[in-house]
Amino acid sequence: MDKIICEICGYKLEGVLEELPSDWRCPVCSASKDFLKKKIYKEREETVFLDIDQNNVSIERNPHKCVKCGNCKSVCQYKQGVYGHYDINKIKCKTICVDCGQCSIACPTGAIDVKNQYKELSELIKKKNKVMICQTAPSVRVSLAEMFGEKEGTICTGKLVACLRKLGFNYVFDTTFGADLTVMEEAHELIERLKSKAKLPMFTSCCPSWVKFLEIFYPKHIPNLSTCKSPILMQGSIIKSYWANLFGIKKEDIVSVAITPCTAKKSEIFNNDDVDYVITVRELAKWILEENIDYKSLAESEFDSLMTTGSGAGIIFGVSGGVMESVIRTAYFLVNNENLKNIEFENIRENDGLLECNVDLKKYSIKIAIVSGLINARKIFDKIEKGGKYDFIEVMSCLGGCMAGGGQPKNLRHTYEEVRNMRKKSLYDLDRGSNVRFCHENSDIVNIYKNYLNKVGSKQLHTTYKDQSEILGQN
Ligand code: SF4
Ligand code: SF4
Ligand code: SF4
Repeated sequence: MDKIICEICGYKLEGVLEELPSDWRCPVCSASKDFLKKKIYKEREETVFLDIDQNNVSIERNPHKCVKCGNCKSVCQYKQGVYGHYDINKIKCKTICVDCGQCSIACPTGAIDVKNQYKELSELIKKKNKVMICQTAPSVRVSLAEMFGEKEGTICTGKLVACLRKLGFNYVFDTTFGADLTVMEEAHELIERLKSKAKLPMFTSCCPSWVKFLEIFYPKHIPNLSTCKSPILMQGSIIKSYWANLFGIKKEDIVSVAITPCTAKKSEIFNNDDVDYVITVRELAKWILEENIDYKSLAESEFDSLMTTGSGAGIIFGVSGGVMESVIRTAYFLVNNENLKNIEFENIRENDGLLECNVDLKKYSIKIAIVSGLINARKIFDKIEKGGKYDFIEVMSCLGGCMAGGGQPKNLRHTYEEVRNMRKKSLYDLDRGSNVRFCHENSDIVNIYKNYLNKVGSKQLHTTYKDQSEILGQN
């Protein structure tokens, strides 16, 4: 009996190669018998490509498009610190994946790509029997235009909203409102932890890929995660409660969609009722093209009211360090009852994935770290293990933050770094041009606490986490 492997997709079988029928087809990728190879393999064969599980809800791999370049594996291992950091013979799945989608950006042929949901959504929207609501994350407005030939970093908020209306959404909201809500909750939580000196450092929790990484590889630090839901979930929860009540719409008649730069958000909303669909920027652009919407000639449109206003602090959520900067702006106000004079933290805006510094809140001097690229999260955990002391740590899975997310356009005209810098500059420009730059001064935020939430810490804006380390199969 030979051990046989399909060279295209890695499917394994046992049998006599020569005796297989000439019209044999691989049950996974349909490759012909010509692609079979006799193999002496260990308990589990390692392939040059990442063997993505079929039940992965964020990304998928099409073996027919794979040229076996190995880019996906390198990114996952050396930038994201995931592949190669577990025993492949013990894990309870094909590949440990935290859904960041960075392998799909690195894949030259599109063999690994976002798991598309826009076609299903497009069918649903055409039935016109639901109230279709979407929210768009800050980073989407500085990347979508690239897909239509415009310069990288072009700010296209008005066109984006117009496209979404043309696709059939009844209401279009800005996730910056959800980001502001997150800042309010997280700034209060930070101050509570500083007062009690408990569960420090506090880690940010708005990146689901980072949260899953911690739950799998560093579960003992779960108490350090902020309990705040991410901006899309906070906003989704408000849409289906406060907003639905105001408009007399039943929750079950709403389909709530988030347009994001992020593949991991697809996994985040799995088994969650706040948001029903997550559509990435690459999916959105395909959808716009398939519906023959003429992006260039479309007149600009504005967000719908009620959750219209987002502060500049919410907009910079799209950049690594932005969540930290926004939370500090509000935490400083909460501690001192006055606003910070210099609110642009130039010293933390230039970082290549790991930066540490001290921040003076007057009553508290806090040690912070800003991390992006999960390989750098491993470095910060190493430092903590060796006695490093921090109060507040922001972690974003994608190097540079969400504007470089796994669902963003792939750009072949410039290097990754150049594209990141162009999108980043636009987000900071938007903050600088905002009338409101502190989330605690956003009138929509003030009103929602006054009219509905009453106080910070509402259960509907917070979440819990679970230890997922058993997937590593080491216990
Ligand atoms: S999505 Fe991220 S974690 Fe998952 S396989 Fe790709 S690079 Fe690795
Ligand atoms: S990056 Fe794409 S083409 Fe290259 S090995 Fe991975 S899946 Fe195949
Ligand atoms: S950094 Fe942003 S885009 Fe990347 S995985 Fe996290 S939330 Fe998603």
